[in-house]
Amino acid sequence: MISVKEASKIIDDHISIVPQEKVSINVAEGRVLAQDIVASFPQPRFNNSAMDGFAVRASDTKGASKNNPVSLMMVGVVSAGSPGDVAVGPGQCAQCMTGAPIPQGADAMVMVEYSSGYESGPEVQMYTEVQAGQHIRRVGEEIESGEVLVNNGSSITTAELGTMATFGYKDIQVYRKSRLGIFATGDELVEPGNDLLPGQIYNSNLYIFEDLVRRAGAEVTLKSVIKDNQASLKAFLTDAFSSCDMIISSGGVSMGKFDYVRDVLMELNVKEHFWKVAQKPGKPLFFGSRGKALIFGLPGNPVSAFIGFMEYVWPVLEIMSGQTRSSTLSAVLDESFPCEKEKTRYLFGNTWSENGQLICAPTKKVGSHMLTSSLEANCIIIAEPGNKPLIKGEQIRVRLLPWKSIT
Ligand code: AMP
Ligand code: MG
Repeated sequence: MISVKEASKIIDDHISIVPQEKVSINVAEGRVLAQDIVASFPQPRFNNSAMDGFAVRASDTKGASKNNPVSLMMVGVVSAGSPGDVAVGPGQCAQCMTGAPIPQGADAMVMVEYSSGYESGPEVQMYTEVQAGQHIRRVGEEIESGEVLVNNGSSITTAELGTMATFGYKDIQVYRKSRLGIFATGDELVEPGNDLLPGQIYNSNLYIFEDLVRRAGAEVTLKSVIKDNQASLKAFLTDAFSSCDMIISSGGVSMGKFDYVRDVLMELNVKEHFWKVAQKPGKPLFFGSRGKALIFGLPGNPVSAFIGFMEYVWPVLEIMSGQTRSSTLSAVLDESFPCEKEKTRYLFGNTWSENGQLICAPTKKVGSHMLTSSLEANCIIIAEPGNKPLIKGEQIRVRLLPWKSIT
């Protein structure tokens, strides 16, 4: 049996990053960038109006007020999208809409609310004095040309999509989604929607896996619930090794009479890198590879499967898809934690902020078959092996469940 640290090191040595591809911005949401997004021009790209109003020479408005308006001669109308080829000379103004280029010669905008007479024209009264630059969005005031806006390895969400569109990006270099084959083994497993016969249970683990795969930005391309027999396992695995970047199983890797997964993997020439890790829950963890494809055999108990995925598979998916590995945080225990002498101990838990400090406590149910312990959790609490009892006030590591927030 190896330690969690040793297991992680072995896994890291076998990860390869998936190939890249180009996708249209229209379908880039959720993908991981394989390029930097760079500003190809300054933003704003040209001086433009921040208001609907009149482009003026600021000096022409000196002393203007409600009771003492300045009258300027209107020489044109500039809409957003027009080339802005109007020039404003002394004593003149041009009507400009929000986003319209500032005409040559003008250096400020008077808001339409501080003017009158433009309907009848051509003289417009300005009721306020403006300073040079007022209500003008200056070239480059937000972004300089050449600035890196989004880094390679970032996930594309709403803000990234909007920013890429702002700079005209159409085809985006991204990492291909990792392709995963997932399967659950067990003669007792029944799919939701069917009646349970005595001794049967519903398959929950594949639903956990599929959702986590999607959340990690990868995709499930093969999925099956398989009876505890070697022929069906072999058929699924043969298929999966020919098309998937990673295979994840639940169940069938323990010491039971019908735990065939490991035997079948050996028959299929999968190289075993380790089997069994000094941890609780989830000791019978299998990790192997064939070619570039990796396989994780997670135990069948749902808590072990869920936590095993988050601790081992999730970081691999992050690295495979060009992202950086998410890290754990340090928190202070609010109650005692069941530490193990020689095993790393994991429990679902909650972490919250109190006086600027992160506090945590495990959820109430501790059995590895008690999946409802995950319902209230926002983190996994991780205790290194050790003899020292972990009591309230001790520092401990927590891994936030990325889709949850700190309460
Ligand atoms: P195993 O690792 O196959 O020995 O399974 C350990 C425990 O997890 C047993 O109680 C199984 O019935 C249960 N189990 C295995 N696979 C699943 C699954 N997909 N969903 C829910 N429970 C499961
Ligand atoms: Mg089983």
